Amino acid sequence: MNQRFEAKLTAELDALKAAGTYKHLRHITTPMAPEVHMEEAGDVIVLSSNNYLGLADEPEVVEAGKRGLERYGAGTASVRFICGTFDIHRAIEERIASFLGTQAALTYVSCWNANTGFFPTICNEGSAIVSDELNHASIIDGVRLASKARRERYRHSDMSELEAKLRAVSGSFPIVIATDGVFSMEGDLAKLPEIVELAKRYDAIVVVDDSHGTGVMGKTGRGTIEHYGLTGQIDVITGTLGKALGGAAGGFIAASDALVDTMIQRSRPQLFSNALPATVACSALAAIDYLDEHPDLVERLRENVAYFRKGLQRIGYKPLEGESAIIPIIVGETASAISMSDALLKRGVFVTGFGYPVVPEGTARVRVQMSAKLTRDEMDRALAAFEAERPR
Ligand SMILES: *Cc1c(COP(=O)(O)O)cnc(C)c1O
Repeated sequence: MNQRFEAKLTAELDALKAAGTYKHLRHITTPMAPEVHMEEAGDVIVLSSNNYLGLADEPEVVEAGKRGLERYGAGTASVRFICGTFDIHRAIEERIASFLGTQAALTYVSCWNANTGFFPTICNEGSAIVSDELNHASIIDGVRLASKARRERYRHSDMSELEAKLRAVSGSFPIVIATDGVFSMEGDLAKLPEIVELAKRYDAIVVVDDSHGTGVMGKTGRGTIEHYGLTGQIDVITGTLGKALGGAAGGFIAASDALVDTMIQRSRPQLFSNALPATVACSALAAIDYLDEHPDLVERLRENVAYFRKGLQRIGYKPLEGESAIIPIIVGETASAISMSDALLKRGVFVTGFGYPVVPEGTARVRVQMSAKLTRDEMDRALAAFEAERPR
């Protein structure tokens, strides 16, 4: 071990601790559910998971994973194009495509991989990417990898700046507009109808990463695109299987046959990294089926969001407005967000504080995420804890 290097790392970690921004991992010993057991804090109500529909421990989803393990074993021990494609991969990809209304879909081991695979494959010399400044880190890194493309950022959801940037890159081909469907730290929705209009006017293609929208937005949980009635009008949809759709892992790109085939041929995480584990493909497939068979789940999630928002407002909080299942409460300094989260945990409520550099300095927040499976009693107990910890 290089002593000087070790000392540098330790000093940097100590600085995080001194600033109150050091992250402690918490160890959960039970399945992800509205209430879990945590080694450090006992039984807690979870308001921090992306388990929006509560499918992570849904018996049908778990059973499907077990059957997948028995039928296919642990995995392919290969990348897809060598000998890593099971029939279940085709099945989940056809299901994702029909679920979202695209011609085709392709899975990756994560949406991180999907996004970092997409941009450098599609955006070469002469192309341009115009990206919302609050897009997810995986889009930001994907765009960074497309180092030959012209890259522009627009202020969050600022449509006149988006238009100015589109004008500035005119002549590039292709021009790609990249946006989250639901922004993970704000909980707000991309202005997709305007974005689609601008894309038509400036001959651009639109990529929507709907990781936080899938299973949440739209009447049948098909996401932000369904919410706006834009099914069939978005060129590329990326998303995760690790949130509402079972919560294990896995991501995808859903798009035209030609685009998906291009990704199979050329995207590097697809060519050089293992296939999605069969267990995950099977449980995600069961999660999509479960969602389609239980449309009331999406309705229940929406009711819980409305109930919890109203509850927070009643006890004096002012959460950011929004329609998704993410309810952020801005507290200002990073250390305040972390100490509020710690205090709530002591009261049996697990909700994470986020600060710089995940969100801009001075806008640290506690981010509440709702689940369809939370009961009124659980939400009332959580609200009581929030009331006791309200900054005065
Ligand atoms: C969570 C998230 C991801 C990452 O998904 P993984 O499948 O866990 O890699 C990517 N994009 C957005 C917008 C997300 O919210």
